[in-house]
Amino acid sequence: MTAQIIDGKLMAQNLRKELAEEVKKLNKQPHLAVILVGNDEASIIYDRNKKKAAEDIGMTCDIHHLPEESSEEEVISLINELNNDNNVNGIIVQMPLPKHLDSNKIIEQIQANKDVDGFGFYNMGLLHSNNKNAFIAATPQGVFYMLQKTLGDLSGLHTVIIGRSNIVGRPLASLLLNNHCTVTVTHSKTKNLPELTKQADIVVAACGIAKIVKKDWIKNGATVIDVGINRIDGKLCGDVDFEDVKEVAGFITPVPGGVGPMTVAMLMNNTLLAYIKQNTSL
Ligand code: NDP
Repeated sequence: MTAQIIDGKLMAQNLRKELAEEVKKLNKQPHLAVILVGNDEASIIYDRNKKKAAEDIGMTCDIHHLPEESSEEEVISLINELNNDNNVNGIIVQMPLPKHLDSNKIIEQIQANKDVDGFGFYNMGLLHSNNKNAFIAATPQGVFYMLQKTLGDLSGLHTVIIGRSNIVGRPLASLLLNNHCTVTVTHSKTKNLPELTKQADIVVAACGIAKIVKKDWIKNGATVIDVGINRIDGKLCGDVDFEDVKEVAGFITPVPGGVGPMTVAMLMNNTLLAYIKQNTSL
C-alpha cells in the first residue's frame, strides 16, 4: 500500500481563495498586527509570510518590530495601544520571545476578542470547555481542517497525538474531543509509544524529533499528520519518516507542503472571524 498524500499547500490555497472572496464583501479591510521582538531569523521569515498571506487575500498587516532588549513594559504598552485601536482586529506576538520576557504574561495582555492565535487563557478555556466562541490556535485548527476534508466525519476515530504543548497537542486534543474523536495524548514520559500509535486511526506527530515515527508504529491504512518542522543537514523534514511510513499509511501529510501552509491560512481565517465578531457586536 502507498499512502495518498494530503496536499496542505493546495488545501491552503483553496481556503485562501475562499477567504479573499469573503474579504471582498466587507466594507473595510480586516487588519492583523504582528508583534516581533528581536531578530530570530526563522521568526522574521514566518512574519513576512504572514504579512504576505494577509495582503494576498485583501487584508492589511503591520509587523511591529521591537528591539531584542525591549522591556516587558514596552511590549505590553504596544499591546495596549493595539487593543485600543479600532482599526486593529487581530493581534499576535511571535514566539519565541527573548528569554528575559514572560511570554504568558505578555500573551495575557491581548484582548480576548483580538487574540487570533488563541493562546490566551480565556480562549483556551473556551476551547477546553467546548464553547464555540473560542479562537482556536491556527496549527491545531489546520490539522483538524485537513482531517475533516480528507476523512469527513471524525466521530469515534481513535487519534493518538504525540506532544502536549499549549500551541499544538493540548488544543488539538480538545478540538478533536469536541468533535467526538477518542483522543490519546502522549509526551516524553509516555511508555510504549509505538504500541499506542499502532492502535490509532489517526496519528498526529508534534514532538519536534526528526523522523521518529516509523512504519511499524502505524496501523495499515491509518491517517498520519506530521506537524514537526526539523532540519537534517539543512533539509527540512517532519517528525514522521515519510518514505517509510507512506508504505503503510492510508493518508499522509508531507513536510514541507503539509501542515505549515494550513497554519498560515487558519491565522487569516481567525483574523477574518475577529473582524466579523467585532463588527457584528457593535
Ligand atoms: P514543544 O517542544 O513545545 O513540545 C514538544 C512536545 O513533544 C512535548 O509535549 C514533549 O513532551 C513531546 N515529546 C518530546 N519528546 C518526545 C518523545 N520522545 N516521545 C513523545 N513525545 C515527546 O514543541 P511544539 O509543540 O511547539 O512543536 C512541535 C513540533 O511542531 C516542532 O517541530 C515545531 O517546529 C513544529 N510546529 C510546526 C508548526 C507548523 O505550522 N507546521 C506550528 C507549531 C509547531 P513533554 O511535554 O513531556 O516535554
